[in-house]
Formats: sequence, C-alpha cells, structure tokens
Amino acid sequence: MSTRIHFVRRQRRRTHLSSIIDAFSDTRTVLLLLLVLLCFPSVSWQQTALGERALQELDASQIASLISSPDPSRNVDPKNPNSHLSKILIPRVADTENNTIVKNYIVSTLKALKWHIEEDAFTDNTPYGMKKFTNIIATKDPDAPRRIILAAHFDSKYFSGYPMNQFVGATDSAAPCAMLLDLAETIDPLLERRKEKLALGMIDDEDVSDTTLQLVFFDGEEAFKEWTDTDSVYGARHLAHKWSTTYLTPHPKRRLRPSATELTTIEHLVLLDLLGSANPSIQSYFIDTAWLFDAMVSAEKRIASAGAFKMSSSADDKWRSFFRPRTGREDNYGFIGDDHTPFLNLGVSVLHIIANPFPHVWHTLQDDASALDLETMKRWNMIMRVFISDYLGLEPNVKSQTVSRSAGELVSYLLSLEH
Ligand SMILES: [Zn+2]
Repeated sequence: MSTRIHFVRRQRRRTHLSSIIDAFSDTRTVLLLLLVLLCFPSVSWQQTALGERALQELDASQIASLISSPDPSRNVDPKNPNSHLSKILIPRVADTENNTIVKNYIVSTLKALKWHIEEDAFTDNTPYGMKKFTNIIATKDPDAPRRIILAAHFDSKYFSGYPMNQFVGATDSAAPCAMLLDLAETIDPLLERRKEKLALGMIDDEDVSDTTLQLVFFDGEEAFKEWTDTDSVYGARHLAHKWSTTYLTPHPKRRLRPSATELTTIEHLVLLDLLGSANPSIQSYFIDTAWLFDAMVSAEKRIASAGAFKMSSSADDKWRSFFRPRTGREDNYGFIGDDHTPFLNLGVSVLHIIANPFPHVWHTLQDDASALDLETMKRWNMIMRVFISDYLGLEPNVKSQTVSRSAGELVSYLLSLEH
C-alpha cells in the first residue's frame, strides 16, 4: 500500500442521528443540530440492513471458550513449519510458481472446510508486460443474500535480484492471511450450527440470518515498480469492477433495489494489512464504519477482561490496546491506498485495519518471521473470533469445553450434576 493522499468519494452518506449528536454533544447542541439538518438533506434516520446495527455481544464464558480453543497461536506460529503462516511465508510475487503454491494452499485449506471457492483469474498489463493474477474468494454460504467480507492480500512485493528477491512480507500480508485461515477454521463449526438453526427457523433476527462470511485473498496488491493507479491493487481493481457489473437475479430475501449487483450485497469490507508485529496502532478511518471499529475495540476490551492478555504477557499486568481511541470528531481519512480503495470508490463500506505507522520493517528484507510477535498475532486471532461472532450472532458452545472423561469419571460427573 502507499500513503499517497487522495480524495475519498463519499458516495453513501448514511449519517446517523446518534453519531451527529455524539459529534456535537459538547456544545451548542440544538443550534448545530439544526445546522446539520439543513446541510445534510440526505441524512437517513432509519438504520438500514447494510448499515449500523446492534450486535449480539458474546458473554464472558462464551468469550473464554472461543479465545482458548482451538489454541489461537497454532496457525500463526512461525516456528511451526506446518502452521498456516509458515506455509504462506515464502516469496510469492504475482504470476510466479510460489504465488500459485500459496494460492493452492489457501484454497485447499478452505476447501477442506467445504467453503465455496471461486478463483477469479485474469490478466492485466504491468510495467513488466502482461501478468496473470488470481483472487481467491471463499464463501461459507454462497446462497446468502448478503455478506461481510474479511480480506487480505496474499501476494508479496516484487524486488529484482538477490537478496531482495527473498522478500517474504511477513506482516505484508502473510500474517493477516494466516489469521483469516485461523478464523475460518475456528468459527466454521459455529457457522454450521447457525445454518442448522436457520434451517429450523430458530433465528428470527433477519439482519443476522441473511448474512454470511466471505474471505477474499487479493492477488497483485503490490506495485511492480512505483505505486500508481495502474501499478497497484490489480486484484482489488479487477474484482471491484467485476462485482459492480454483475447484476443479480431477484431474490425474495434481498431487500435491495432492482439493480442490485454483487457489490451492493456487501455489508462491509474489512481489510487487514501490515499486521503481526508488536504494538500496532490502529485507527478508525471512515465515519460510516466508526461503529464497527468500536465493535472491534469492544471485542479486545472484553477479551482483556477475560484475563487473556495478562496470561500471555510476561510479568506485566497491564495491557495496551491495539486501537487508537476515537475522539468522535474524526472525518474520513482515506489517505492510505490499499485493496479497499476500488471498493470504497464504488460506495462499499470499509473498515481498514492497518498498522499506522507501518511496521518499521515495511518493504525491507527484515519483514520476515523475526518481525512477527506471536502474542500480538494471538491477540489478533482472538479479536477476530469475537468480533465476527458478535457480528454474525454466533454462539460458541461453552459446554464443548468439557474435557473428555473416562466412563467411570463420567458416571461420577453425572451423579454430581444431580445434586
Ligand atoms: Zn507491501
């Protein structure tokens, strides 16, 4: 990604009464509110199905279950040669054999979970001629009317000649890709149970029931030479355009306008980038998704309350949040060019989770396993598990935490329950 300044087109202005009041609650509330009403004729008081909504927060015991099992470090441990992270942590420049190896690894991991996989292959012109790219789109339930997307790019940056061609992009973005795979594996059983409940008509919250989870692994995020509009985010540009021109046949459950496209059925695009090194500082970039940012902050806070960070950090009882506090007076700060940009420009609601400042190893050979902090990646996995479970109304089974017991133990356990 790059820090080029560019204008963010705000095609959707779904400003909510609550956020306006928040922004102006300090002084002169009434006058300013009237002024805002005059200036923003398109203000919508109604929360839409695609916008802000109440989340069902997991309780403490559900959180404790979800963050401990399966072990949130196993998939992101660079010391384990079989971890998802290790499988991705090789040079994997677009249109190379290694890129295909990593692509196939991601695809096979998600196919094993029986997710619907689409390989979105295309060619595009680059400063080095025509190149092949393939985005990976994995969807839990392809028939769902809407989806929340979690995304990261799986290609690594091209550098010519030894030793720079050994660049593996650990934070950029091998670790975020491994985190997405960890999330899919962890919550797949919960998504399955949710599906059963939906089929039995046991979930009546339509906002929740109509939404599925989709993971997108973008190819060709990196510029081959200098970051420009045409030499960067090849995969994201291709997919945003494709989805914006793919019209959907009417669906009884899609409460959308007749001209709905694949793009308009995205609730939010959550893009992870440059994560995995210690002490990241994450800020909210867009007014539309400030509430979703807050939901992620809340997930981290509740995980901390469960004691997870104290257990994992050495000696120090205190923990420092990954997230920069919001002042409530933020504007849209779309100054970091990344895979979200083509979607944002087409009106998609974006939550950009990127360390800013960038990790100090950014685009250097040092962005390798040594740049990663296992406790930090563990925390990211825990945050993503809780955040998405809150969002999709998943219900971690607290009882499944029970350790397996021998027959004798089980008898005495059941007897103990009777008292
Ligand atoms: Zn990069």
